[in-house]
Amino acid sequence: MKKDYQPTSAYALQLDAQDKLASFREAFLIDDPNLVYLDGNSLGRLPKAAIARAKQIVEEEWGRDLIRGWNKGWWEAPSRVGDKIGKIIGAGEGQTLVGDTVSLNLFKLATAALMLQPNKTRILTDTFNFPSDLYVLQGIKQNLDNRHEIVLIGARDRDITPDLAALEDAIHEDTALVTLSHVVFKSGYLYDMQRITELAHAKGALVLWDLSHSVGSVPVHLDDCNADFAIGCTYKYLNGGPGAPAFLYVNKSIQEKITSPIWGWWGQKNPFDFDLEYTPAPGAQRFLVGTQPMISLLTMEAALEPTLQAGMDSLREKSILMTDYASYLTSNLLAPFGFSLGSPLDSAQRGSQISIRHEDGYRINRALIEEMNVIPDFREPDNIRLGFAPLYTSFGEVWEGFDRIKRVMEEKRYEKYPKQKLTVT
Ligand SMILES: *Cc1c(COP(=O)(O)O)cnc(C)c1O
Repeated sequence: MKKDYQPTSAYALQLDAQDKLASFREAFLIDDPNLVYLDGNSLGRLPKAAIARAKQIVEEEWGRDLIRGWNKGWWEAPSRVGDKIGKIIGAGEGQTLVGDTVSLNLFKLATAALMLQPNKTRILTDTFNFPSDLYVLQGIKQNLDNRHEIVLIGARDRDITPDLAALEDAIHEDTALVTLSHVVFKSGYLYDMQRITELAHAKGALVLWDLSHSVGSVPVHLDDCNADFAIGCTYKYLNGGPGAPAFLYVNKSIQEKITSPIWGWWGQKNPFDFDLEYTPAPGAQRFLVGTQPMISLLTMEAALEPTLQAGMDSLREKSILMTDYASYLTSNLLAPFGFSLGSPLDSAQRGSQISIRHEDGYRINRALIEEMNVIPDFREPDNIRLGFAPLYTSFGEVWEGFDRIKRVMEEKRYEKYPKQKLTVT
């Protein structure tokens, strides 16, 4: 961490003045300048380009083109937009497809990986994974006659860092699949993709990375790491809009060896022959199932532009400065009120979010949302998550967020809220 940070608004504004990405904030709709939005890790802000594009898709393409739209770019959209996302995650063309949800894509790819290796029974993941991912794995196990064992690696410390030694020990010759969230949702811990993938491959296991919290927030190099599979969200740091379709990646080297567990016409070799028998489409295309949500998918395509323009290396540089400064503010402004950092101190092990922990975290989070015009989110048992989206979050906003948290504590504003969690944020 840099040494000369200062806990003042003037200092934060100075960081803004030096920020080479500052002008990207203008590319987003920000109608309430007083709102401190620190939840871009759950739902990114709205890019202005997406507003214009959504209007065009609805009025011109849907409204006038009607069915002709499928011949004017809709049909190819999953692979065209997939290749654009490929540029953000270090994937060469023909390996990334957009469609369905993260959970569904996990189901398809993890099942395919297990079916490819019928003699191996071990699935390795960790307690840091997103619960939906664990549920999907449990369901797959049930569907495949309960032959598999799901091994859950735990934490090394206060739920901040996974137990890497235990993870490495647990990769055996009978491990079929290692599947992890690249950046974990609660603490923001960032796995070393290269290392884990190499270790798994050395034992003959396949690796599937969930990039939901890392795509658009940290550089990802799927091809260079020789990852087998990946899945991820487009509505978090990619700003694709609520419920925008997810993506999946299948490394070229195994595309022809595996089949999807769901055979649909979008994954059929010649869908317009309307054959009565299924033949898989070549490549990753076979993992598509049926008609995709075009309005949402094409709006998301436009929303990718700021990320593609800024580039992941510049975004990462700013993101590290933001999470470093936020960690500094946590210890300088908030520690006296009983807060502690719930994320790795070392930026090399951290995504673009930090968690700050407090036993009254739930009530403090409510007070921030209801009274202070600050939007973080709360994750059990005591984490207030603060997400920093380097495209549009300013250092002034980070400072303002911490200053308002401090005010909630000084004025004990949280005391009037119930201790129990009753709502979704
Ligand atoms: C956000 C997120 C999801 C969401 O899955 P959906 O099926 O799109 O709702 C899944 N996994 C991880 C790791 C996430 O962060």
